[in-house]
Amino acid sequence: MQPDEVMHWLKEEDEQTLEVLWKKADETRREYVGNDIHLRGIIEISNYCVRLCHYCGINAANKNIKRYLMTVEEIMNGVKEIESYGYGTVVLQAGEDARIKADWIAEIIKRIKNETSLSVTLSLGERKKSELELWKKSGADRYLLKIETGNQRLFKSIHPTASKFEWSNRIQILFFLLETGYETGSGIMVGIPGQTYNDILTDIFLFKKLGVHMLGIGPFLPHPETSLGKEFFEGLEDKDQVPNTELMTYKVNALTRIICKNINIPTTTALATINSKTGRELGLKRGANVIMPNFTPIKYRQFYEIYPGRICLEEFGTKVNNMIHERIKSVDREIGYGPGSAIQNKAQKCI
Ligand code: SAH
Repeated sequence: MQPDEVMHWLKEEDEQTLEVLWKKADETRREYVGNDIHLRGIIEISNYCVRLCHYCGINAANKNIKRYLMTVEEIMNGVKEIESYGYGTVVLQAGEDARIKADWIAEIIKRIKNETSLSVTLSLGERKKSELELWKKSGADRYLLKIETGNQRLFKSIHPTASKFEWSNRIQILFFLLETGYETGSGIMVGIPGQTYNDILTDIFLFKKLGVHMLGIGPFLPHPETSLGKEFFEGLEDKDQVPNTELMTYKVNALTRIICKNINIPTTTALATINSKTGRELGLKRGANVIMPNFTPIKYRQFYEIYPGRICLEEFGTKVNNMIHERIKSVDREIGYGPGSAIQNKAQKCI
């Protein structure tokens, strides 16, 4: 699909016409990654963070949130639970903080690899090269770091950096992760104040160039304890600003599937947050092939408030598992067992 056609679809509003896009995304998904839906259990191991991201509710400046760091035993209990449901992957996610020590993570990775058959995905932000290397050597399989937006001017304005950080250029980090041998995931938020249609178009083709294996695309959801959620945003004219809607998120997901073809695409929790009834299913019918159910202990989950109104704050264990199985059945797909790696798909990386 050519850039002008992608732009045309991004601007298309007619539901009937959009059926053509959904169908093309669904066919591409079936042809390149099949009918399996891979389940990744996510554990949000800490909400401590030193960064000041203007979009994220757990940024360091938010004093109105209780901070937590899970113990190794709590993490291992979650890991065992994820394995007991037959999932192939655990995702360990957190804010960025010196409390999350590189050696401590390395030991956890080794334990997971020794005691279970799970693949390990890390989503721990912009960590040092030496740490990323250590974790790969310790057995980590994948790393997830979203570029949030490929527009560097916009990214810098919502993601302040300080000289104490080794690096903050997420595209550079993604290349390093790929070189280091990680199966690498990235993605963006849709509808960041100041983000244009052209930015989204550029991002979709950038995804293809980067050659990452997974892309998570969710709507930007304003959080009242962040500057992007608090301040009146005087930015673009309405016609240029990409809306942070459910429909726009489906369009970007579908187009990403059509352009990048054989990658993994999760139906994001942020999408299910704006449509808790059918968001996940519609995501799966419009290009996605992965779900990431939450296995953070209930007592911590409310504090991992990257955006407000997150779903499933109360649900855990068997209830979550049954709900996911029902949803997969309802879209007439199968559960994928094993690691569900995009590296094993027909071709390498984005084609
Ligand atoms: N510290 C890690 C994990 C952050 S949370 C990192 O920076 O990679 C994981 C993802 O949540 C982010 O990459 C971002 O895409 C998403 N997120 C954060 N705040 C959000 C918001 N207000 N609305 C929607 N998604 C958000």
